[in-house]
Amino acid sequence: MHGLNKESGPHVPSGQAHDGDSRSRLWRITRKIETFFVTHRDKIVWVHTVTFLCFLALIAVPPFLPDHTANATPFTDYATFANMVMWGVWFPLVFLSVIFTGRSWCGLLCPMGAASEWANKKGLRRAIPRWLSWPGTPIVSFLIITILGQTVGVRDYPQAIAEVFGGTMAAAIVIGFIYGRNKRAWCRHMCPIGLLLGVFSRLGAVHFVPKNKIPGGDVLSEKGLCPTMIDLKRKEESRHCIECFRCVAPQSRGGLFLRLRHPGEEIETIRKHHPNLAEVWFLFIGTGIAAGGFLWLSLPLYNTLRQAVGEWFLGHGWYWIGTPGPAWLMVVQPQHREVFMWLDFMMIAGFMLACMVVLTALLSLATAVSAWLSGKVGGDLDLRKRFVELGYQYTPVAMVSLVIGLGGKIFDLLKYTGLGDVGIGYAKGGLFVAGLLWSVWLGSKILAAQKVPAARRWLPLVPGVVGSLVVAVFWWPAIFPL
Ligand code: SF4
Ligand code: SF4
Repeated sequence: MHGLNKESGPHVPSGQAHDGDSRSRLWRITRKIETFFVTHRDKIVWVHTVTFLCFLALIAVPPFLPDHTANATPFTDYATFANMVMWGVWFPLVFLSVIFTGRSWCGLLCPMGAASEWANKKGLRRAIPRWLSWPGTPIVSFLIITILGQTVGVRDYPQAIAEVFGGTMAAAIVIGFIYGRNKRAWCRHMCPIGLLLGVFSRLGAVHFVPKNKIPGGDVLSEKGLCPTMIDLKRKEESRHCIECFRCVAPQSRGGLFLRLRHPGEEIETIRKHHPNLAEVWFLFIGTGIAAGGFLWLSLPLYNTLRQAVGEWFLGHGWYWIGTPGPAWLMVVQPQHREVFMWLDFMMIAGFMLACMVVLTALLSLATAVSAWLSGKVGGDLDLRKRFVELGYQYTPVAMVSLVIGLGGKIFDLLKYTGLGDVGIGYAKGGLFVAGLLWSVWLGSKILAAQKVPAARRWLPLVPGVVGSLVVAVFWWPAIFPL
């Protein structure tokens, strides 16, 4: 699939667009999509109102309902239904949708970002402080929410869902109310999933391109109309674009235009799209912590370690380790026979962070070897730049892992189709293999862009494949439960 030529803009269709019927058809479809969203841009507020009400119904109602029975299903119990919608539909579909539509969730549907922007219109409009615009802020935010989600049982208990999602919504509104002028400071700098969606949106088939691009690469700018502070004329990457269509004016010679492309194109040509080391670290860190959030529940090793650490603390007379903590920080659900102690809190957080460190170290090693070998067989650039480019090859396998592991309830829905456990295992395995093969393909394309001759490309590709397989090993219990 090919879209408009970058340089051509929507008014001057390139020769490429007229080369064949399919390209010409794609060009017309793209212009229709663009016109539709620009024409109906003022109605998005109603879409946001509906999603906001749905969000409230899913997180605020279930905590007040009586506890469900053990054999409750989404069809017989509202709280079970709400949980299934959050983890079996919303979570996996938002992440999978980036492949086809980029961050359309953010710009068109997300009630949190919309509420933050609405608060900004009414708010204090203070300058965005440096602690908020620090590049590490969304990483810290992501780590805190991911770990807290595990310790309070966000996948199981309605109270925990209300706390995590309600608290995040409140934070989005407060940040929006205080900081920025007609901007989404929350979405750009602090949303716990914004950065993750941003990395994965580089795989997406949707891209907004300046009609009159000026060189220099992406920079943050609080001037202009972009809510996520993209300097529009310099825009070359997708990750901060929430697809709000505000910069699109089909009749104008300026602004941006919508371009459809084949999924993965931006990563295949990552050197033209502002690759950066911080994003690659985040990809590794995010994959590791998410794997830890699944593994502590499924690995027997976790219980062995917990036992040993608990005995060590008690042996030293530190009995507080065996007492329950506050319900906002950890699971305290005596009616469900689950009450976490400080030991559990520390062990879960420590185990997740350890998984993060180990997986980040292994992926870094695999990528470093790959980048070094690339240089040995003809790759251009210096080692650091080759490392950054090659780090992006893990994006598909990381995304698929996240969907299978933390959004695994989508596969529970397959039970209602009559597919047995084995069939569901194959569905998960098939999705994972597709992600893995896509990662290998991207690795090969990045090496081609580094000018590594085709006959020698296999050599630096091998460590990349090993890196993808390492991710597979971490997520194996999610695909085929022990
Ligand atoms: S960045 Fe976060 S809060 Fe903002 S629109 Fe996207 S998901 Fe919603
Ligand atoms: S680049 Fe355009 S479409 Fe993307 S977020 Fe900014 S204004 Fe919206």
